[in-house]
Amino acid sequence: MLRPVCVTLLLVVGAALAQSISSQAQSPTQADEDIARIVGYSMTRGGALAFLETLTDTIGGRITGSPEDRAAAELILKTLKDAGIDSAHLEEYNLTSTWRHGPATGEVISPVKRTLVIGSYGWVPGTPGPIEVPVTDFGPIGDDRAPIPASVHGAAVIVDLRSNGSSTMYVGARAIIARRLAQAGASAMFIVSDKPDRMVYTSAFAFYPRAPLPVISIASEDAAFLRRLLTHGDVKVRLDVQNSFPGPGKERNVVADIKGSDPSEMVLLCAHFDSWDAAQGANDNGAGVAAVLEAARIFKLLGMQPKHTIRFVFFSGEEQLSNGSRAYVEQHKDELDKIRAVFNIDSGAHPPLGFAIHGRQDLEAISKTLLKPLAPLGADRVFLEADFDSDQETFIVAGLPIYSLRVDPGDYDTRHHTIIDTFERVDPRMLAIHTAVMAVAGYSFANAEQRPGRRLSPAEVRDLLKRTGLEQLYQLEYSAEKPH
Ligand SMILES: [Zn+2]
Repeated sequence: MLRPVCVTLLLVVGAALAQSISSQAQSPTQADEDIARIVGYSMTRGGALAFLETLTDTIGGRITGSPEDRAAAELILKTLKDAGIDSAHLEEYNLTSTWRHGPATGEVISPVKRTLVIGSYGWVPGTPGPIEVPVTDFGPIGDDRAPIPASVHGAAVIVDLRSNGSSTMYVGARAIIARRLAQAGASAMFIVSDKPDRMVYTSAFAFYPRAPLPVISIASEDAAFLRRLLTHGDVKVRLDVQNSFPGPGKERNVVADIKGSDPSEMVLLCAHFDSWDAAQGANDNGAGVAAVLEAARIFKLLGMQPKHTIRFVFFSGEEQLSNGSRAYVEQHKDELDKIRAVFNIDSGAHPPLGFAIHGRQDLEAISKTLLKPLAPLGADRVFLEADFDSDQETFIVAGLPIYSLRVDPGDYDTRHHTIIDTFERVDPRMLAIHTAVMAVAGYSFANAEQRPGRRLSPAEVRDLLKRTGLEQLYQLEYSAEKPH
């Protein structure tokens, strides 16, 4: 059993730091010992890596609502049960809209014939069979209220939305332009991919439950080719995008507890397991799932009982509209006040830096103290920046203290939602360190004498969204709802 963490003594992480304990001429506390064991097992067991290999190589890409995503939920559940975590279970919820990803092909048919490298965005409709349409160039989006020219009617419209695809502003602009092009009668929207080497990109953020027209990622090289052709005259393409919407469906989250000696409060460690199917969903977010799942197994293996419960939650549906975390908050609304803190990992396995607290200045000082055990891993920084880029949005809106792992992203954006999000590109060392970071953060917050901060009221949430510049995106996503 664990004792509450004595914060001033939490200077040491990991077996490798035994020397610093002796140099301080102090006997290690129980917390020092616990943290050393957690970090040691995270680094040496290889459990996260082995799980990630199974997830990516036996299941692969996992689109929300697909058989693969169901299989992923079963695999997570079985792995937790096999580790002796009997509380592990599935929690089902309804999806308003499922989507089937069909083939997407495109070619120039006039003035020359040439195949195009394209890929469909998620939760966008297909074309009504093969269509032959003119191409027009909308150019870069400087202002999403700029007038839409009449030439877009019946055309495939090239739009520059230069961004890595995961920034909040980009997502808002993308959704607004798609709506306006559809209203103006455009046949399809080509978004120029930012990926290198002729790769395309996908996402459904702000398109779920159904985008207003076929939205297609086009390789930047192919968009440049179309633009060169357009300088000489009219260009026509044939497009055949065979997506469909089979209707409503069901999805599941996976939830498991390491029960605290005082279960009246809890800390959540979360990761989403759904992904796109261009590749294996390894870095986004198989890696995060593997780290959180291995953290749960290590607590169980070491027989550690924290003071307060640590709950491990694996969400589906993140890539659409954070459906899994929203369902969780709805299904658990009577116990949200028990939550001390929520930790979400959806960063890819890159060097960890610390956690973002999404504009919650009131959490800053205590969080720095509680995250001190992560200093030797370089992961004790606290970032005030706020975003809706993952399931944190749900917990920001619910007013809860939410922490998102921040990393030095390296080539994250290159791999993100592309054909190269594959297992062998995930750094095993980072996976082990992420396991340690999530487990130690959970340990530290679950054993702390006090909560890091309180739950915000709906009015305070509204202020926070305004202050952090998230209000427009909030309105786009939650148009019919209010905070809480
Ligand atoms: Zn993700």
